[in-house]
Amino acid sequence: MTICPLCLNKKSFTIIEGKNRITYKRCEVCKLIFIDSCFLPSSTDEKKRYLTHKNGIQQKGYVDFLMQAIEPALPYINTEMQGLDFGCGPNPTLSEMLGQMGYSCSNYDPFFFPTLPDKKYDFIFATECFEHFFFPAKEIVRIKNLLNPGGILIVMTETWKTTERFVNWHYVKDPTHVCFFHDHSFKYLADKFKFKQIESNSERVFMFKLNASE
Ligand SMILES: [Zn+2]
Repeated sequence: MTICPLCLNKKSFTIIEGKNRITYKRCEVCKLIFIDSCFLPSSTDEKKRYLTHKNGIQQKGYVDFLMQAIEPALPYINTEMQGLDFGCGPNPTLSEMLGQMGYSCSNYDPFFFPTLPDKKYDFIFATECFEHFFFPAKEIVRIKNLLNPGGILIVMTETWKTTERFVNWHYVKDPTHVCFFHDHSFKYLADKFKFKQIESNSERVFMFKLNASE
């Protein structure tokens, strides 16, 4: 039985035939496209692939890329706040950039920085991370539980636009990219998990404020 890993719908899906006989399902409720579970990478393959990512603070291109997520967040964060880079990868860069700007930001990654102190954060960045989630609903609950009331979540990921373009999309070619959000999926996320969506003015950055009463 198929279950949508974001909205948990069990009924309305459209099958999408990808390259190399890989199949995906598009959820008609939340518009998430997710890879069929038999094509999910093993954690060994996943870790191997992440270790090939050589990006770091020395790479100007990568720093500029991450700046796209930091800039729209600046009006909502200050140097008194505690931040977290969720899914920071093997070479934490965003937290270093923020550190250089005077902000405090810790690192978390299930493979490379798996220990999280028992505390909550005022802002959480998840850059190029949501597309790796096997079960986004679970991860979003986890992120939500790590946020203080009124906290800010900044997500950077590419969204799919049309099913026709999806199959040839470069983003799909990475075997560790297993779910693909649509703008509508983020609206659904805000609604279901009690966030208020904030305009980021960027096509690939999605910002949310957790309701103060959560
Ligand atoms: Zn769904």
